[in-house]
Formats: sequence, structure tokens, C-alpha cells
Amino acid sequence: MKPSHIEHLGIAVTSLEATIPFYEKLLGTKCYSIEEVADQKVKTAFFKVGQTKIELLEPTSPESTIAKFIEKNNGRGGIHHVAFDVTAEGVANCLKEAEEAGIQLIDKAPRKGAENLNIAFLHPKSTCGVLTELCEQPK
Ligand code: ZN
Repeated sequence: MKPSHIEHLGIAVTSLEATIPFYEKLLGTKCYSIEEVADQKVKTAFFKVGQTKIELLEPTSPESTIAKFIEKNNGRGGIHHVAFDVTAEGVANCLKEAEEAGIQLIDKAPRKGAENLNIAFLHPKSTCGVLTELCEQPK
């Protein structure tokens, strides 16, 4: 696996509405996209920092993994995952490689994430405690 760059950092927040103005000020840039990802039960907001993005994640249901993450973090958010761009190799190839290397997968096959990217997650148990996402730009 040889990612070209960090595609985005995922940060869990309790409220997009409350957090977006802070990040707009901190990063000196406007949030350029808000999107709900229904199957992950989250609402996302994106900012660009160079070629990397910041993805804020607000749970839309107590069942959301983001809600559980916030609960584990004393009700506060924090860095939730790091996402690498593996467009050159493709997510499917990287998953195969990861599985062969004994890395535990959360997703056995690529699925659709925010911004129409093809994505898959690797289990933090196998990745030094950091939830790791692989991203591929859609063709
Ligand atoms: Zn992500």
C-alpha cells in the first residue's frame, strides 16, 4: 500500500452547527460541503487544508458509531479516524493486501462514503489504535 496523501482527518463533534464557525475561523476557510451519510448515521461537514480535508462528523442517531465514540470520550469529540488516498492502487487491492498482511478489516469490500468516494475501514486493533480509512476517487 502506498497512499499518495492524507485524504482527510475525521473529527467527531457533538454539533456541526456549533463547531463549523469555530473551524471556519481556525482554518480561515469556509465549510464547502455538508452532507448526510445515511448508512453511517452521520452528518458531515468538509473544509480544505491544502490537498487534505477536515471532515467533521456529527451523529444523527444514538446508534451511530460516532455517538458511541463521543460517549467514550466523556461526551466530547476528538480525532476519530485518518483517511489515506489510495486512488492509484484502488481500495479493493489495498484491502486484499491488508488482509494478506493479517490486518483486521471492518469492510471486506469498498463501499460509498461521503463525497461519493469509494471507501473502506481497517480495524483500529490492527492499526495501532487508529481507525484507518482508505479512499479512492470515483472514476
Ligand atoms: Zn472519513
